[in-house]
Amino acid sequence: MPDPMTPITNGQEYIESLRNRGLVVYLFGQRVAEPVDHPIIRPSINAVAETYDLAAADPDLATAVSPYTGTRVNRFLHVATSANDLVMQNRMQRRLGQLTGTCFQRCVGMDAFNALHSVTHEIDARHGTPYHRRLIEFLTQVQRMNLVVGGAMTDVKGDRSRAPHEQADPDMYLRIVRRSDAGVWVTGAKAHQTGCLNSHWLVVMPTIRLGPKDRDYAIVGAIPVDAPGLTYVYGRQSCDTRSAEPDDLDQGNARFAGQEALIMFDDVFIPAERIFMDGEVEFAAMLVERFTCYHRRSYVCKTGVGDVLIGAAAAIAEANGIATASHVRDKLVEMTYLNETVFGTGMAASQLATPTASGAVLPDDMLANVCKHHVTSVPYVLGRLAQDLAGGLVVTLPSARDFAHPEVGPKLRKYLQGNPAVSTEDRVRLLRLIENMTMGRNAVGYLTESMHGAGSPQAQRIQIERGADLDHKKSLARKLAGIERGKE
Ligand SMILES: Cc1cc2nc3c(=O)[nH]c(=O)nc-3n(C[C@H](O)[C@H](O)[C@H](O)COP(=O)(O)OP(=O)(O)OC[C@H]3O[C@@H](n4cnc5c(N)ncnc54)[C@H](O)[C@@H]3O)c2cc1C
Ligand code: SF4
Repeated sequence: MPDPMTPITNGQEYIESLRNRGLVVYLFGQRVAEPVDHPIIRPSINAVAETYDLAAADPDLATAVSPYTGTRVNRFLHVATSANDLVMQNRMQRRLGQLTGTCFQRCVGMDAFNALHSVTHEIDARHGTPYHRRLIEFLTQVQRMNLVVGGAMTDVKGDRSRAPHEQADPDMYLRIVRRSDAGVWVTGAKAHQTGCLNSHWLVVMPTIRLGPKDRDYAIVGAIPVDAPGLTYVYGRQSCDTRSAEPDDLDQGNARFAGQEALIMFDDVFIPAERIFMDGEVEFAAMLVERFTCYHRRSYVCKTGVGDVLIGAAAAIAEANGIATASHVRDKLVEMTYLNETVFGTGMAASQLATPTASGAVLPDDMLANVCKHHVTSVPYVLGRLAQDLAGGLVVTLPSARDFAHPEVGPKLRKYLQGNPAVSTEDRVRLLRLIENMTMGRNAVGYLTESMHGAGSPQAQRIQIERGADLDHKKSLARKLAGIERGKE
């Protein structure tokens, strides 16, 4: 944990703040001594560090004035109280996607704060609980210190057809196992936790609608990442061991990557002052729906990553000597229009925000779901088109060691030259970047995270069906068809 008296002001200080925490982290079956120095983990830390450096370089874009501290705070820690605040989140997310070409990991915590702001207010209004005040105190503290907060919602879930209390093993959803006046102790596991090791705090939340028998599963609270009883098992990614190679040529994007880990909670204590929901099962669905409403339009992050892939596709077309061909230009138009469609729906969801009782604003639910639903398919189409323009070398390139070999290297540079205006090495680097984004480390973020993050495609279709208001649309049709008369 960073020095409690010294706020973090830039990416380097953020990286240093992660050292010496003694986290229990496993990767490849071994305990990781210091995640900050691990070559596979470090690129994910660099991606979060960009969120600090962007705030320093462009405060209008990546900071906002907090009503709680009265000062500028990182936008990832700010609760949106206007449509413009939400629009600025989206603009910042696109920019960070452009800068990193991957998942920069801070949006889950941001969206959790935004959802909890209104939900705790509404729980308190019904039950007289102190959750909203506690949340604001916690938020003020992390704003002052400029900390990273991870959002831990997704439980491992066991048998998907059963409610938490119906599972054969009760630990399939995070649950309270003990209580005292001082707080609660929780046990269970959260899967796919983005940036959890790179965070200072985790906010745990239920992942599903809960019923009266699920009371012990209705827990929301903040836990320091180094709390006793937490074990992290790092998710391995395709081609991740390339990060440990000395030459960056094979890595595609050597500096940045995403991070997911499984977190196991073994009797972890949450003090009363850090509890923001405890047993109010009827508010679990509201929290999940509001969180996903924010988070599904946060996926405009992928349009920034899409900008990088479109650029890589255009540049490899130049390197291959095909840039002016009409089908190539048309494919780049196709990629651009699809990418902007995602951005347009996300921005519209933010622009059409409505106020909640707490003063926080909520994006438009239909458009947020449409945005995320596009994201479950658009990056795959962009990836296909980028691979089309790249040619087969994107999967058959020799390694950096072959290029460095005294005999075979010069011949490879001769035979793998395309357009003479572009060096063979630059052509190789572009091909490796496309590989990285469409099947390597950053395909985790660009493709499969786009599929499942913030809910698998069916989760959006359920919300879209709920919001479709077919009765209203049928009525419109019946009026024009002359079936319903005099009801205008
Ligand atoms: C890269 C990545 C990053 C993520 N980051 C985070 C994070 O930071 N924090 C966090 O909390 N979560 C995170 N998630 C979790 C994400 O929200 C889940 O992956 C998503 O909700 C799907 O859950 P699942 O992976 O358990 O898949 P499953 O629930 O197993 O889904 C698999 C399939 O089963 C279907 N299915 C599931 N349940 C049912 C049912 N009851 N009936 C019928 N069909 C069903 C789904 O529609 C889907 O087609 C992340 C996920 C990924 C992949
Ligand atoms: S997937 Fe996108 S929205 Fe989610 S944390 Fe990563 S960058 Fe943010």
